[in-house]
Amino acid sequence: MANSRFGYVRQYELSDALLPGTFLVVRLDGKGFHRFSDKHGFEKPNDRRALDLMNAAACRTIQSDTLRQHVLLAFGESDEYSFLLGPKCSLFGRRNSKILTTFVSIFTASYVLLWHQFFPNMPLQADDGGPSFDGRIVQYPGRQEIIDYFKWRQADTHINNLYNTTFWALIQQGGMTVQEAHKTLGGTVSSEKNQILFTRFGINYAKLDPLFRRGSIILWEPEQGVSAPAEKEKESQDQGEVARQQEKKKASKSIVSSSKLVIVHEDMLKDAWWTDIRPYVLQ
Ligand code: ATP
Ligand code: ATP
Ligand code: MG
Ligand code: MG
Repeated sequence: MANSRFGYVRQYELSDALLPGTFLVVRLDGKGFHRFSDKHGFEKPNDRRALDLMNAAACRTIQSDTLRQHVLLAFGESDEYSFLLGPKCSLFGRRNSKILTTFVSIFTASYVLLWHQFFPNMPLQADDGGPSFDGRIVQYPGRQEIIDYFKWRQADTHINNLYNTTFWALIQQGGMTVQEAHKTLGGTVSSEKNQILFTRFGINYAKLDPLFRRGSIILWEPEQGVSAPAEKEKESQDQGEVARQQEKKKASKSIVSSSKLVIVHEDMLKDAWWTDIRPYVLQ
């Protein structure tokens, strides 16, 4: 088939390979989810079931046959998810469209497949085509840009969530209309929104669920017990340098093979998160 007289059309396909040695961030975002969330009765400002569904779809995507081993870290908030691939990733020869469409399709299929587990009493409406996600891949040259990328997304979560929490408190508890709430919040800074929440509604923003304030981070965590190469090192000290090096290698191998996927809601804006708390994420 490839050598038929029709085969020349293949030449019209352009290469879209991404740069070698760069980090890749695949970011997906729900299409028209403002309307989708209204149609499916999402609670405002934060529907926990919807966030749990996004997290479950992301975990299923990361653990799929095609993408397993490739995703180093993921971050989700609202209707979006970012997945990080490392500079050595050779998935699909780093072809942009192959990688992106695979993420989008596995994620969307997972969202639909898992829907009923999170919304057992709310049938998924598909009269307009059903839920869909668009996506993009951005290439970043190094570690610092990646750290700043994830900090940027988490800072966005903070800003949006503080606004939305105050906005909906003014409406749901304060009896304001949508227009009045927007007007009240126009031009306010973070401390003023915190103040409104606390003085008018008795809400201490810092005490709200970190799932809402910080979004969700998915990472591979070394299993407890095997992440102690130092102890293994100690045991083998007497056996000389060669044995020591071998033990060390074995220990670090077992860390990789015994990692488990976890969802956490930690503060990535702290530099210590990258260097001390989760140093293995970008290793
Ligand atoms: P676009 O197609 O341009 O992305 P959109 O309507 O999806 O438009 P976004 O900026 O992506 O707009 O915002 C997503 C919207 O989906 C939020 O503003 C919110 O209304 C809704 N939404 C998403 N997740 C939740 C949730 N867990 N709880 C409540 N509402 C949510
Ligand atoms: P890749 O991931 O590279 O696309 P692939 O396994 O999907 O690999 P394709 O070249 O896309 O390979 O070929 C699709 C294959 O799927 C066919 O070779 C055939 O084995 C199978 N297939 C697709 N549709 C049908 C069908 N209707 N009936 C039987 N087999 C099918
Ligand atoms: Mg959207
Ligand atoms: Mg969005």
